[in-house]
Amino acid sequence: MSTHVFYSSEACKLPIYQFKKELIQAVKDNTFLVVTGETGSGKTTQLPQYLYEAGLCKDGKIGVTQPRRVAAITVAQRVSQEMGMKLGEEVGYQVRFDDCTSKNTMIKYMTDGCMLREILADSVLTHYSVVVLDEAHERSLNTDILIGLLKKTMSKKTSHGRTVCLKVVVMSATLETEKLSAFLGHCPVFTIPGRTFPVTEKFLNLIGPKDTERSAYVKEVVKVALDVHTNERAGDILVFLTGQSEIQKACDLLFQKAEVIDYRYDVNDSSVEGLLILPLYGAMPTDQQKQIFQPPPEGIRKCVVATNIAATSLTINGIRYIVDSGFVKQLNHSPRAGMDILEVVPISKSEAQQRAGRAGRTSAGKCFRIYSKDYWEKCMPDYTVPEIQRTSLTAVILTLKCLGVHDVIRFPYLDRPEERLILTALKQLYQYDAIDRRGQVTSLGKLMVEFPLHPGLTRALLKAAALDCEDIMLPVAAMLSVENVFIRPGQPETQKEADQKHRQIASEAGSFNDFVMLLNVFEKCKASDSPSAWCRDHWIHWRAVKSAFSVESQLREILHRLEEQGAVEKEKWDGSRSELFRRCLCLGYFTNVARRSIGKSFSTMDGHGSTVHIHPSSALSGQESQLDWIIFHDVLATSRMFVRTVCPIRYEWVKDLLPKLHEVDVYELSSVAREEVTDEEVAKWESKEALKRQAAESFEDV
Ligand code: ADP
Ligand code: MG
Repeated sequence: MSTHVFYSSEACKLPIYQFKKELIQAVKDNTFLVVTGETGSGKTTQLPQYLYEAGLCKDGKIGVTQPRRVAAITVAQRVSQEMGMKLGEEVGYQVRFDDCTSKNTMIKYMTDGCMLREILADSVLTHYSVVVLDEAHERSLNTDILIGLLKKTMSKKTSHGRTVCLKVVVMSATLETEKLSAFLGHCPVFTIPGRTFPVTEKFLNLIGPKDTERSAYVKEVVKVALDVHTNERAGDILVFLTGQSEIQKACDLLFQKAEVIDYRYDVNDSSVEGLLILPLYGAMPTDQQKQIFQPPPEGIRKCVVATNIAATSLTINGIRYIVDSGFVKQLNHSPRAGMDILEVVPISKSEAQQRAGRAGRTSAGKCFRIYSKDYWEKCMPDYTVPEIQRTSLTAVILTLKCLGVHDVIRFPYLDRPEERLILTALKQLYQYDAIDRRGQVTSLGKLMVEFPLHPGLTRALLKAAALDCEDIMLPVAAMLSVENVFIRPGQPETQKEADQKHRQIASEAGSFNDFVMLLNVFEKCKASDSPSAWCRDHWIHWRAVKSAFSVESQLREILHRLEEQGAVEKEKWDGSRSELFRRCLCLGYFTNVARRSIGKSFSTMDGHGSTVHIHPSSALSGQESQLDWIIFHDVLATSRMFVRTVCPIRYEWVKDLLPKLHEVDVYELSSVAREEVTDEEVAKWESKEALKRQAAESFEDV
């Protein structure tokens, strides 16, 4: 069976098109295949169409994974459009909390996290004929785990004497393909030769190795972009920054500055006008994203200000100039703080080269780096460290355990994480009661994997459900799962107004507490006659709240399904609702407890004693002196370690939970990580624990 696909002249011009036949054959001939080629050569959008046309999905779907949610959605839109089909029919996508597929879906773009969840439900992926793991060079945690899992599954499938029908294609930009092939049993590597044009690279020396004041780089970047616009000949600009707020700030500045230049120099020159400024970041509405790909109107220059998403996931045609800030926002596990911290860090040299390469796709280009050569040599690592070696593995290890992978240390990792990180994850799972002392998944742990949430938050939610008050925790869990709902405008006056409105919501919530504030936004907005107007009036992102509504009902569905199965045991409670709410939160966040120390600072209680401050965006900011114990949702490191989404608690509520943080010695868990634990080992452990618990109880005196 083969289906005819019509390829536009544009699609026929892509480098991949000449290799269509050979590629189809290579996929048919091999269980594993690595495909590599320059970004923009057509791998992501074209290969699935070729396989579809060749009838490769007669036994199941073609699943294509992406590390980034926006990429999955954007690419699915593009491919459905190329194939002249309605999105969600033959071509669809699925990302967390947003499933746009149907029975007819044959090409399914999805995040690697969603694919991992599908494996959890069906380990041999019966409904798929081809799985394409895209953007493998990004080395996202989930893609790395998928590569290991599929390698494991496929070897099992053959050993049972069954014919292997699932095909696995791993796609990567040029880096590291030999390593991937070797890992997958020396499978063939298919290279799509691509033509690139030279890119002149310039170091502008605006940032040097000693520049610790990093917030200034947004201004520098804007200045460079404007210089390019005034001085360089036609061609679009792509600016790399690190995140949404920074990108919005840069876009605001670009608008303003463009006006100032006009005014000051009285320029009638159209080169200063004629700049079409477009932001591009993960949480953007998809209809706005469409504009990014469209060619600018005649005589106008496009300037896209993007996160790293534009480095490999999405290719924008017509880019001739790159302005590189040299920074990226990254989630890193900090062993010193014992937490995952979102921080802005210098990119690697290979990443910088990838960014520069975006200027040379269709003609010669230029890359302007705001940093100096000295900075490049001293501050930028050669390669980016894979996510698996730098972030918390808690959720992934629980998934592996639920898949029956008990020996999580000897799992086939493409790059082995430090044992310490695996053990920390096991320790956390043990603290959340998701695994027992033998490393087996508990009934609570089995419930936890059902929710696409952080295990701690899931635990709080399940407790609330047990106490019949899920109505207050579901909205909070949903609000924490969507992008930031609070708008923080760039201009000082409007900022003041927004702050005031947000404070008002906080005070209406009764108690100053960021979690309750989220609940209040959710409920107020839901009850309003015109939710979008309410949001506009209160400086709240309506789109974010709207998706929280949808997330809430999806979480509710999962919860109801589990309740119907009798999986949630009910408990009784006589305290007040506000206290109950906070106590449920404590169960999920007791690993994130801090106590006030000197001045406005707090000290974490997880044994690391890190100094943290309340983020200015918190409703509790400025009231530190009235606080004693707090829990927090996450940590952001800028000039200081800031905790965000904070809730005041009482020591009694965490008193019984805190010892668990100190109960287990991480190194003793290494035996749990392996398969067998003897009774003696458990006994030895328990006797030691008694001692440790005594030690931990001294906390009460703190
Ligand atoms: P690769 O995966 O090899 O990096 P892609 O398949 O993503 O390449 O891109 C192939 C071409 O399709 C590029 O020229 C890119 O600009 C174009 N393209 C991809 N997505 C879109 C879109 N949403 N709108 C317009 N053009 C797109
Ligand atoms: Mg691609």
